[in-house]
Amino acid sequence: MFQENVSLKKYSNYKIGGRARYFYAAKNADDVARAVAQAVGDKLPVFILGAGTNLLINDSGFDGLVLKPEINLLKLEGGAIRVGAGVLMEDLLNFAVSKGLSGFEWAGGLPGTVGGAIRGNAGAFGGETKDNLYEVTSMDISGNPPAGGPKILKRKNTQCKFGYRNSIFKINDGQEVIIEAVFKMKKGDKKAIRAAIEKKKEYRRTRQPLEYPNIGSIFKNVDLKRVPEKYKKAFASVVKKDPFPVMPVAHLIDQAGLKGVSCGGAMISPKHPNFIVNTLNASSSDVKQLIQLAKSTIKQRFDLELEEEVIYV
Ligand SMILES: Cc1cc2nc3c(=O)[nH]c(=O)nc-3n(C[C@H](O)[C@H](O)[C@H](O)COP(=O)(O)OP(=O)(O)OC[C@H]3O[C@@H](n4cnc5c(N)ncnc54)[C@H](O)[C@@H]3O)c2cc1C
Repeated sequence: MFQENVSLKKYSNYKIGGRARYFYAAKNADDVARAVAQAVGDKLPVFILGAGTNLLINDSGFDGLVLKPEINLLKLEGGAIRVGAGVLMEDLLNFAVSKGLSGFEWAGGLPGTVGGAIRGNAGAFGGETKDNLYEVTSMDISGNPPAGGPKILKRKNTQCKFGYRNSIFKINDGQEVIIEAVFKMKKGDKKAIRAAIEKKKEYRRTRQPLEYPNIGSIFKNVDLKRVPEKYKKAFASVVKKDPFPVMPVAHLIDQAGLKGVSCGGAMISPKHPNFIVNTLNASSSDVKQLIQLAKSTIKQRFDLELEEEVIYV
């Protein structure tokens, strides 16, 4: 049932990564259950893959099953949208516009799948995935599946423990596969919704190095409370609300003189220094070396520990 020895490069927004020993694209919950039962039987670790927009996949690949929930359901239920975890956020936004439904304008240009966005409670421009979320259906894949197959869980928004880039699905990392979700939307004007989305996309195009393969911001912005007093005054003009006051890491990396620094085929983007871009067949170790360089330089210069936002596979 599984494909073998599959290159993960094409499933990585970074175009970086080795091979998966096994790979399986599940089209529905039953497919997920069958794949998990087989992986458990074969004692294989499972990695759940979305669109690979937040992952740094090792050159040595993944010695187990990479399970990609390609659950592409997208339908209107009254004023709500029921959507499969594998649907791209962009397709969800286009669907919402076509139905004149407002609530996702903040997500214009947000890459990745619905499953990935729910897991990390992805957010931008003051909005978060949780804002319109009504209910999430997931599958518990931890331990041995009980007779009758893995358990299906349904949670209302308040049961999902959403926080800043966090959720119960992230807390229970790798133990639950998000299957589908329902978002409750508001009626709006199609033209106005489209215009708001396009504005966000344009903002991203002008500020983010989207011309190169990338995985978004490498580091989490630093909570202002962690910034040493002696730097607070000098940085006051660049503090952002995200949604609490933060010191943008892009500015720290810029101030540390690391813009444009390269290692192999990877480069700290001069356009947005919290992005490390793949300029020419970069390896995962090229990127990791730049991550370490940024961390040690920022520690030395500003006495701050940077924390990765990206996920290592
Ligand atoms: C150019 C660019 C801009 C970005 N801007 C933002 C931004 O503004 N705000 C923001 O929050 N993020 C941003 N990101 C990061 C990224 O897009 C989000 O984190 C996105 O939600 C990840 O979704 P994905 O489908 O690509 O997940 P992946 O990268 O494939 O996986 C991320 C994590 O989610 C898990 N996962 C994926 N699908 C499921 C599922 N069905 N069930 C359970 N777990 C699952 C994976 O196991 C992994 O742990 C940006 C990335 C890029 C490349």
